[in-house]
Order: sequence, then C-alpha cells, then structure tokens
Amino acid sequence: MKFQVFKFSSFLFFLIYAINLYPQGPCGTTPPVSHVFASPVSSSSPFQTSYSLPIHFYIITSNGALPGINEIVFPYNPVQQIRDAINYANTVYAPANISFYPSAFTFHESSSLYNNGTNVVALYNAIHDDDAINVYIVNDYIAEPGVKGRAIHPDPEFPINNALTIIATSDLNYTSVLSHELGHYFNLLHTFHGTAYLTLPETDCSEQGDKICDTPQDAVSFEGCPNTIFTCSGNCNFDCSSTPCEIRDLRIMPPNNNLTNSFAPDKKNIMSYFLNCGLDHFSPNQLQKNL
Ligand SMILES: [Zn+2]
Repeated sequence: MKFQVFKFSSFLFFLIYAINLYPQGPCGTTPPVSHVFASPVSSSSPFQTSYSLPIHFYIITSNGALPGINEIVFPYNPVQQIRDAINYANTVYAPANISFYPSAFTFHESSSLYNNGTNVVALYNAIHDDDAINVYIVNDYIAEPGVKGRAIHPDPEFPINNALTIIATSDLNYTSVLSHELGHYFNLLHTFHGTAYLTLPETDCSEQGDKICDTPQDAVSFEGCPNTIFTCSGNCNFDCSSTPCEIRDLRIMPPNNNLTNSFAPDKKNIMSYFLNCGLDHFSPNQLQKNL
C-alpha cells in the first residue's frame, strides 16, 4: 500500500517546467519525469484489502482571517468544505476499498503562507504530521492564477512526503479537487499527460500519455481548442458533450502536418480538467495504481 511506503520513505518531489509550457489549469501539479513510474498496472489485481487513511488538515490563516474569506459564496465554512471533499473522496475511492478520514484539524497562522499554496515544501516545512497525509487549505496560489490544487508525486529523491495543498473555495465544482490531488499523491498523471503523441494514436498505452491503458487519450482538457498549438474540428472544448474531436498539431512540420487524431476523452474522469462535467470516477486501472 503506497501510504505505508510514503510514511517510511523520503521521496516526493515536483517539477515546474510544464507550467511555463502550457497555460495553467486548475491543478498546479506538474508532470513527474518518466523514470519515477512503476510498471504498468496489472488488470487482475482485486481490491481485497481495505485501507482507511488519516488526513491531517492544516487551515492556513492570516491575521486571524480564514482562507477563502473573499470567495463569493457566504457564509464560508472551510471545515464543512473539507468534510464535503472527504465524502466525495470516499465515494470515488470506494471501488478500490480506500477511504479517508480527518485525523485532525489545525489552524496555522502564517501571513506568508496564506496565499502561497504553490510552495508545498514551505508549507510542509512549517508544519506537518508524520502519521497522516498532510493537506493544507490555503487562500490562494498567487504565483499560479487559476490553480485550485497542487500535490507532490512520489519520488525517492525528494526529501519530504505526504504533502498536498488545496485552495479554499466555496465553489462546489471544486469538491473534487482533493480527490484529484490525492490521485497525484498516489502517482496518477493527468489524463492529458503526454502531448507528444497527440497526432498519432497511442501505440504503447503503458508508456505514452498518462501510462494508463483504460483511459482514452485526452488532448482537450488541459487547454481546449483552438489555441496556439492545435487546430480542431468537432467538439474540442470544455463542454461536456460526447462528440469526438479531430486535432491537428500545428507544431508538426510538412509533410506530416496534415495528420489528425480523433479524441473522445472521458469527461467524467477525476484526473481530467473537465471540472464542470460532473467528475465522478477513476478508471479501473487508475484505481489499481492507487494501491
Ligand atoms: Zn492535477
């Protein structure tokens, strides 16, 4: 079980290079390098063992102000938001027999961290719990506008563990953010990871894209279309219709620049960016990778 590995190892990290390559999406977590990842998930692993994992929530305050105080929806209640997010996580992780519970709530005063959700390391260094997953509820990610969460992928070379952050918001669309960030914590990639293969169908789903074979290629949810990289036909935007879209990659030079690939992403997959489409599940192979 990864959590037990996480507790006793020191290995997490995150990269920042992708932030500069693509417009920022709602999750600031950046792709890990390929060597981090283990072998493809077997399709035969049953979920016979159940796990109940503690989460220690740190609510970062500034001069006594709660995170999310400027959100539109009032009254704002971060503890209720946390409970909603846990209930959601327990629903979507239930098929893998994984559940979460809040082991503690701690209010931590820090004006420097209040709007600094990007800096997971600083949050972790300020305060953490070695016996739980550490989740920090911050007011904002001022270095990354639009970001709603950030997590750290496991890596043996990174000297902290167990940490992720989520922004404080009262927007119900973001109840899924905790589950999404926990997915990264368990080493899942975004469904749109691996843009190098966009104009060709995946030939090795265990090594290309998100390295998960039962999630369809998703060229859409990280950016939408059209944009500076792609031209599109069909439905390539962030709406929730199931119409496939055709994408041509503008970076491809002649004579191959007329190649197109058809995409029909899973717009309810929690590791996508289709936040408004009622995200409600992981794929079976994603669930297995969580273990
Ligand atoms: Zn993410």
